[in-house]
Amino acid sequence: MRQIIRNAYICQINENDEVQPVFGDIEFDAGKIKAVLPRSSRSFAPLKPQSPDDSKEIDAQGRMLTLPQVNFHEHIYSRLAKGLPIIGPMNNFVEILNSLWWKLDRCLDLPMVRASAQMAALESLTHGVTYLFDHHASPKSVTGSLQTIADVLQDFKIRSVLAFEVSDRNGAQIARQSVEENLIFTTRDNNADVKGMMGLHALFTLSDETLKYIAEKIEGLKIGIHIHVAEDAADVRINRQKYGKSIADRLRQFGLLNERSLLVHGVHLLPQDYRIIQESGAAVVYNPDSNLNNAVGLPDFAAVPETVPVLLGTDGMHANVGKSLKQLFLLRRHQGASFEETFRWMQKIHKDQLRFVRQYFPDFTRLQPGDRADFVLWDYVPPTPLTEENFWGHYLYGLLETTPTAVFQAGQDVLQEARKRLQSNNELLDKIRKQGHRLFEIFTQD
Ligand SMILES: [Zn+2]
Repeated sequence: MRQIIRNAYICQINENDEVQPVFGDIEFDAGKIKAVLPRSSRSFAPLKPQSPDDSKEIDAQGRMLTLPQVNFHEHIYSRLAKGLPIIGPMNNFVEILNSLWWKLDRCLDLPMVRASAQMAALESLTHGVTYLFDHHASPKSVTGSLQTIADVLQDFKIRSVLAFEVSDRNGAQIARQSVEENLIFTTRDNNADVKGMMGLHALFTLSDETLKYIAEKIEGLKIGIHIHVAEDAADVRINRQKYGKSIADRLRQFGLLNERSLLVHGVHLLPQDYRIIQESGAAVVYNPDSNLNNAVGLPDFAAVPETVPVLLGTDGMHANVGKSLKQLFLLRRHQGASFEETFRWMQKIHKDQLRFVRQYFPDFTRLQPGDRADFVLWDYVPPTPLTEENFWGHYLYGLLETTPTAVFQAGQDVLQEARKRLQSNNELLDKIRKQGHRLFEIFTQD
């Protein structure tokens, strides 16, 4: 069915990956954008009556329409953690892992993983996220866990890149099973909506033997790794003490770095690490809310070479990756960067994100005719003219303080569909809650 959104600021991307807002109408059909028709001013002409077989029209009333949001580091498995009774100490990063996350992930079975994915999907759509890179852990239910997540995300029309966190902390057998789980998605290429990476927890829980095993399994396959690096100073210290190497040096030793890889956090990376990362083309993913929550410190953003791609994630704290970007903007200002430098950095990050996501989804939209009809209509009407020059001011101070009114994926309003699903029956929320209660029981007894 032909659809048209009228009176919107359509924030297209040009061939240099710069944002170029156009005020007007966007027409789409069969999942693709047919035309973007500029207008000189808002039209108050009445919309055509709608019928099921006729075209459908939406009046955006001057709102902003942008690319979909991409979350480059999620932990869907964290979704049922809220309100769990924590008994052990939580005074530093390793204690937080021991008392909460490593205890929680051992409790998860596939029905809980499914419920976590449903909750994460609903939250992601609410914040305009229709592309996500997940880093999963359920060490007692490894096999089939990624397919369980994939099924749910596909059901909600979210495109994803999945990875299972390989770690030695639960023994060699589970580590090898986890490698196998990753290989299912990384080596198949028949699904345009679900891709895979090789997930690694963090180097301080991975032995040289396991890294060698992984390196042999993915040799020559151009598979990207998805790993936590230097999140806490403990990761750097343990690698130095046990293996005599810095983080990036150890990854390089096993040939695990490439331009398709995600290095998450990087709070305590050293200048010698950046030299290696720069050569490899791997990207660093910042998760500022999580870093603040865990009190692990913050990266010195000014010390990161310009050529290292920077991406944003939520680390399972929430699904609002736009909030992560806003937080990053404020923290960079707090560290003393000028407005000019910080706005320029936002533009660089935006370009880095586009380049990275296209490696996994080459058809990622630019909102140009012929592209996929993937976009978000935000509940933000710019009070002053929106142009290429002031886009980031509107985006950071206006748009990101609102929520989407519609989220389209291949021409379908997937946010509306999710809301309808919730309104028509409470079954979905009941199912999620049931699994949350099961987790609560098991976690309490553990
Ligand atoms: Zn993480």
